[in-house]
Amino acid sequence: MIHLSQSQLQTLEACPRKFQYIYLEQLSPPLDPLQQESLIWGSNFHLIMQQRELGLPVGIGSDQRVSLDADMQGAIAALLTAAPELFESQSQHHQKTNPEQSRRAEYPITLELQGYLFTVIYDLLITAPDSAQIIDWKTHQKPLKSDFLSQQWQTKLYLYLLAATTNYAPEQITMTYWFVKNSPQPQQVTIAYNQEIHQQTHQEITELLQELTTSLEDYQTQGLDFSQVSPKAGHCVGCSFAARCGRGDRASTPAITLPNLADIAEITL
Ligand code: SF4
Repeated sequence: MIHLSQSQLQTLEACPRKFQYIYLEQLSPPLDPLQQESLIWGSNFHLIMQQRELGLPVGIGSDQRVSLDADMQGAIAALLTAAPELFESQSQHHQKTNPEQSRRAEYPITLELQGYLFTVIYDLLITAPDSAQIIDWKTHQKPLKSDFLSQQWQTKLYLYLLAATTNYAPEQITMTYWFVKNSPQPQQVTIAYNQEIHQQTHQEITELLQELTTSLEDYQTQGLDFSQVSPKAGHCVGCSFAARCGRGDRASTPAITLPNLADIAEITL
């Protein structure tokens, strides 16, 4: 059983050859110091939000007395101010008046599809009898557009798996991204879901996995490389593997401007 994540699907869809280089041959370039710093910040933010949700002392690492840095404290305080409704359900009063609501932090769901195993981990999942809200903390600086987010495999897979593994109708499910580092205050983007999108996502996953299965067989039995994306798609510009692919020298090409959710500081616990 091969495990697949949303970032692997995203890469596979953008360019199968890149998927081969990164995930089969482990040729990823190392993160630069700024990316590492951002990753650590994002990881700590997720950890703190989980500790908070579980009612544990908030801190980082094994020493829970370690104080949070000002940046982190500011981001958490701004989120509490901008979205008190997100946290009021933790209060005893709210739990008494909304006994059917349930909250789970870092909640995993797994689904097997066509011999591949998908696991998603929801930063926060808030459910009631007739609704399910997926909450995702995003820790990069600027919010992304709703149209862009809707097309990302994180959004598609998170919504798809919840609809596929529970009794919620797609129309009862939403996914909300909170961009917690946006200044002056955090911003949210909510993506709605419905049966039509669910069917479309199912079709897309099915086709992508069929192509992956064929490519893997050719790679393993005949040593054939995965296909390269057309240069017209624009993905080769700034790609780390441009020189290897004969698509130009990375140093002489401008960086890609479109962000990839998979590159955004994130952790799964
Ligand atoms: S340079 Fe282009 S073809 Fe090669 S891995 Fe990157 S995106 Fe794919």
